[in-house]
This record gives sequence, structure tokens and C-alpha cells, in this order.
Amino acid sequence: MKQSPPMQTRRNTNFFQLLIALLLAATTLHAQSTRPEPERQLAHDIYKQFVEIQSGYSTGSTTPVAEAAAARLKAAGFPDSDIFVAGPIPKKYNLVVRYRGTGVHKPILLLAHTDVVEAKREDWNMDPFQFIEKDGYFYGRGTGDDKAQAAVWIANLIRYKQEGFKPDRDIIVALTADEEGGGPYSGINWLLKNHRDLIDSEYALNEGGWGESLESKKISNDVQVSEKYVINYRFEVHNKGGHSSLPVPDNAIYHLAAALDRLSRFGFPLKTNDVTAAYFKEMAKIETGPTKEDLAKAAAGSQEAMTRLAAATPAFNATLRTTCVATQLEGGHAINALPQLAAAMVNCRVLPEDSADYVTTTLQKVVADDQVSIKILADAAAGPASPMRPDLLKAISETTNKIWPGVPTVPIMVMGATDGKYLRIAGIPTYGVQGFFFDRNDIRFHGRDERMGIQSFYEGQAFLYDLVKQLSTP
Ligand SMILES: [Zn+2]
Repeated sequence: MKQSPPMQTRRNTNFFQLLIALLLAATTLHAQSTRPEPERQLAHDIYKQFVEIQSGYSTGSTTPVAEAAAARLKAAGFPDSDIFVAGPIPKKYNLVVRYRGTGVHKPILLLAHTDVVEAKREDWNMDPFQFIEKDGYFYGRGTGDDKAQAAVWIANLIRYKQEGFKPDRDIIVALTADEEGGGPYSGINWLLKNHRDLIDSEYALNEGGWGESLESKKISNDVQVSEKYVINYRFEVHNKGGHSSLPVPDNAIYHLAAALDRLSRFGFPLKTNDVTAAYFKEMAKIETGPTKEDLAKAAAGSQEAMTRLAAATPAFNATLRTTCVATQLEGGHAINALPQLAAAMVNCRVLPEDSADYVTTTLQKVVADDQVSIKILADAAAGPASPMRPDLLKAISETTNKIWPGVPTVPIMVMGATDGKYLRIAGIPTYGVQGFFFDRNDIRFHGRDERMGIQSFYEGQAFLYDLVKQLSTP
């Protein structure tokens, strides 16, 4: 545009000045929502190192993750006496580190698990155990679940020490084995049983709650306060059987089928508890569609509103009641014989306030056939909800607003399970909070091409840095 009149040139200059000013402003905003570059770099390096360690719960080992974290902490000046690396078998080590405060309050525990769900190279578009940065994302198994939080806990703890931060309570970080696999080497269970003193705390922060976004718009920062628990049942019918040419009404398959049909038409009572009522109340503020009013009414206890919500989506239904569903079937032994056995597996997801006894007796009433035996398959321990601590929820919502103005903090009860359940049973209230945002329609935990937004990772680091500091500043 060499021939532009002077006026035009001046306008262009103004335009570019404005553009530069806007870019500078954007850079400043950006700087506020993430930690300074050296801290980002440290978190990045630890994250990359963790993701590239193959810690699949059946084929890998968590020990190198625990050792890598310990080496970084020692290099940062943490004394050996405050670092604990051990586990039930050599492949399943855990790390516990204590950053000492003035002891005015009981410690807080920052928990993350270091094992990951298995990932096969052929299922992925890239090597799942290579940390790849591409198109604004970090890719790799564990980038979301749960190595980001593990890396951030360690990086932030090192930063507190460098700053000489004096918390009013000890800050304990525990990186544990085998959350995904459960089973005999669960790190959190092993620590609770063998080294409770190392992790004993007023409450814990853990995975299980994350930020929800939709097409890059941030919707809510979720805090997991409670979990449903699982009871598996086996329904079983035995019968003397006989030749199929002489059928009788008393048939094992028919008994079972009728029982399952009655189950399919039964719904446990709809209700809210402290956590889900708070959840519906917050969701009512966010929701813009036709369910907005029902969410507010359900929060206030309206059965009619709960009924409409439960019918609207499986997620609302599962939030409002205990559910039991048939998942597997077996029965009969020949095409020309009356069945001697028919059986079904029934998987129940139980509200924390419903007891196993209550669920069992309810199922017996629904089935209403004494030929159908109903047995619990494994001991089910209900995890109590964590109390809705106003101080903690206030700190989370203030920190959320500082980094993402206007984004609400929403308490949730989740359908899946985390290590938080074991801590809650052991009397340590646990809150799932991360500040990492994921698109609610593109959650890849346990799936292929697992990833985390690069900006999201650094914002989560800043969020957790501020949150923990606020919870431990005199
Ligand atoms: Zn996890």
C-alpha cells in the first residue's frame, strides 16, 4: 500500500498501535493466569518425565515415577528424612513427601496416582508413552489421568521451598500406585494400613473433579465431594430341569427373566443429598435450556422436578438415585434340556447414604420370588460424603474466580470411584479438584490419544499453586 494517502497511513499506524496495545494486554492477562516461565518449565519437565515412564497397572511399574520425584525433591533441598519411597512389592512403590509448616493446623494431603490404564501403540495415533506437544495439546497416556496433577504437586512444592514459603500446616504430597488397577497393591490402602502417620491429615485434595468446557468456553470448575459406591449382585435360579419335550411352567430361565423384567421397571426413590442439592443449585445458574427451572426446583426438593430430570438424561437419573442394572447373563446347558441354572449379574451404583442392607432388601422385594437367590459378590464399603466445608469451597471458588473470572465452582458426586473413597472411609475427607479444563464432549481418560490442553495444564498449575497456598497461609 505504498500509494496510500497520509490519512490512511496515520490510521494504519493507529491501528497497529492499538493492536500492539491489545497484544500486550493479552500477554499480561496470560501471565496472570499461569506461573512464571521457569516454574512452567519445571512443571513441564516433571510432567514429561512422568508420562514417559511406563506405569501401566498390569505391565508397568510406578517405582521409577516415585524415584524420579524423590530425586527432584532431594535436588531442591528436601531432607531425606521428609521423603519416603516404598511399597508392598518392588514394582509398586509410592512416594510421600512432607513440606514442614508451623503446625498451627493439621496437615493437608495432596494426592495423585502414578499408575495408568494400559495403552497399546497400535490403538493410538502416536506412541502413548512419548510426551508429544502438538496443536496446542500434550499427548500421552496419563496426561489427563493423573500425571498432570502428580507433576504439578511436585513442581509447586519445590517452588514453595524455593520461595521460603512458611505454611501454617504441613503440606504432604503422596504419589500412589495402582489406583486404576485397585487390587492388592493399591498404594493408598497400603499407606493407610502401614504408614497412616505419614499421610494423616485434616483433609485431602485429589483427582476426580476437573473443569468443564464446551467449545473452548469454560462452564464450571467441578469439585468432587462424594462418590457413589458399587455393589455387585448375582441373581441365581436353580431347577431340577428335565427334557425339553415336557416343559413345565416352573422354569429357571422364566423365573430369572421375570425377576429381571421387574427390576427393569423399578426405580429407587429419587432424592438429593447436600452435595447433589448444591450441584443442582449451581447447574440451575449455568443452564439456559428448558431444564433450568427443574434444576432449581430439584435442589429445593421437588419430586416432580426430580422425576422430569431423571427422565431427561441418564446422568441426572444416576445423580438422583441408586441404580441397579443387569449386565451379564448365563443359563441352560443344552438346546433340548430344561435349564437347571439361570443367573444374571446385577451392577448397582449406590448413593453414599444408602446402605448395602437397604439395597439388598429392596431388590428382594422387587424380585419377589424366593426361587431367585440374591447374593452380594464382594464386600462393598460405602464411602461417606466429605462434608461441604465452607472454608475450602470458598477458597476454591475465590481461586477459580481469580484465574477464570465468572466461572462457577460446582460441587459434584461422581458415579465412578477414586482413591478418595478409601480416604473418606478412613476419616480423611477428600475433595477432587484440579483446575485442568477438558471439553465435556471429548474426555479421553482411559481412551486413545489421551491429551491435555497446553494452556489448560499451565492454568491448572497456577490454580493449584494459589489454592494450596491459600489453604495453608496463616
Ligand atoms: Zn485417575
